[in-house]
Amino acid sequence: MKVLVLGGGVIGVTTAYYLAMSGHEVTVVDRQAEPGLETSFANAGEVSPGYASPWAGPGVPIKAIKWLLMKHGPLVLRPKLDPAMWVWLIKMLRNCTSARYAVNKGRMIPLSEYSRDCLRALRAETAIGYDERSRGTLQLFRKQAHLDGAAGDIAVLKQYGVPYEVLDREGCVSAEPALAAVKHRIAGGLRLPQDETGDCHMFTRALAAQAVKLGVQFRFETTIEGLAADAAGISAVTTSAGVLRADAYVVALGSWSPRLLAPLGVSIPVYPIKGYSITVPIIDPDAAPVSTVMDESYKVAITRLGDRIRVGGTAEISGYSNKLRPTRRATLDHSLSDLFPRGGNLAEATFWSGLRPMTPDGPPVIGATRYANLHLNTGHGTLGWTMACGSARVLADLLSGRTPEIDTTELALTRYEDRFG
Ligand SMILES: Cc1cc2nc3c(=O)[nH]c(=O)nc-3n(C[C@H](O)[C@H](O)[C@H](O)COP(=O)(O)OP(=O)(O)OC[C@H]3O[C@@H](n4cnc5c(N)ncnc54)[C@H](O)[C@@H]3O)c2cc1C
Repeated sequence: MKVLVLGGGVIGVTTAYYLAMSGHEVTVVDRQAEPGLETSFANAGEVSPGYASPWAGPGVPIKAIKWLLMKHGPLVLRPKLDPAMWVWLIKMLRNCTSARYAVNKGRMIPLSEYSRDCLRALRAETAIGYDERSRGTLQLFRKQAHLDGAAGDIAVLKQYGVPYEVLDREGCVSAEPALAAVKHRIAGGLRLPQDETGDCHMFTRALAAQAVKLGVQFRFETTIEGLAADAAGISAVTTSAGVLRADAYVVALGSWSPRLLAPLGVSIPVYPIKGYSITVPIIDPDAAPVSTVMDESYKVAITRLGDRIRVGGTAEISGYSNKLRPTRRATLDHSLSDLFPRGGNLAEATFWSGLRPMTPDGPPVIGATRYANLHLNTGHGTLGWTMACGSARVLADLLSGRTPEIDTTELALTRYEDRFG
């Protein structure tokens, strides 16, 4: 089949790769000059199935009030007269029960674990490099109460058979030796040894180059203006560079997916949740993290990417704005200088923001729509890098008439047909 993949972020590029591997003739369309220049550009770098959890969880509404009031709080709400913002928030709140959390997490973990395995296989197949490391991730608790509060997460890890280690202060230092200098700040940690790290943008670029070798064409600097439909399905895509046609179309437009789907009558509850990162050159490798340290107090992830440290965090609900706010940078600077004071040169850091394409329940939306030739691979929220390879592989399987290796029925858009949608 001729397939048009709309969007060239990590999701669009992995989709194109697996579709081309399945023998399809693939073209990727993106408004940017290169792959992965929007949300996939400078994320926190965690490939972390162990942390694959919905944000909507029991206790979150109360915690959210506390976070909104904290100086370096992980949540920011800038209310707007935007119905989509309020509808999304209400749907998210409806998913904050223990029962919904269990259902939603149960949909995210198998996809994330599968995705990490697909990434490993792809790495072996292509030998691409992206400052990757396979040294696990460490969730760091500064207070004993927070460590005790991880009991629920540990129970879920046990339930899904995800390996984990509960560490005391000394254990944290042996996993991340640079923490020795600040060990008085640490109560303990939860380590997920199977998690990986890597630069999502480097990966996306390198995989796009592999995809070109398989015959995939990229049409960059091409803005998609709309999709046209007739009785048979999608008939064309209107772009700034003319009309494009194919046998099948995959929407992988991240946070912008709902905007192009709405005129077709396809409603997906994806909303942009802004996050920020800084990328800091390493001064002293021995004083930098060896992998990801998740600073649980501020919900900030600190990741070693080659000779750089990437620090990412904040959930800012403020619509489609990429504005860089110095107060948010201060939180990232604070977390890094508090835990790895001699690791990186903050004066030379680059500051970035991106819009996570979030669903209110957590899992992405993958699969068919009411148009026979229109498929979705979007809404990966906080874990798009973690879930990219698995999501792309299952979508390529579905489009090629193969049964995916994991059950994908509950990742489809039809899951929103109940009252939680
Ligand atoms: C601060 C931060 C930290 C994060 N940390 C992690 C992490 O550690 N681990 C993890 O797994 N995930 C993380 N994420 C999430 C992850 O980055 C995203 O889920 C992922 O990048 C989404 O990929 P995507 O391809 O769907 O979207 P994008 O990368 O945004 O790709 C969508 C593409 O569509 C194109 N596009 C949109 N509209 C149009 C149009 N009209 N015409 C043409 N092209 C268009 C854009 O140019 C873009 O390239 C983080 C996100 C943020 C913001």
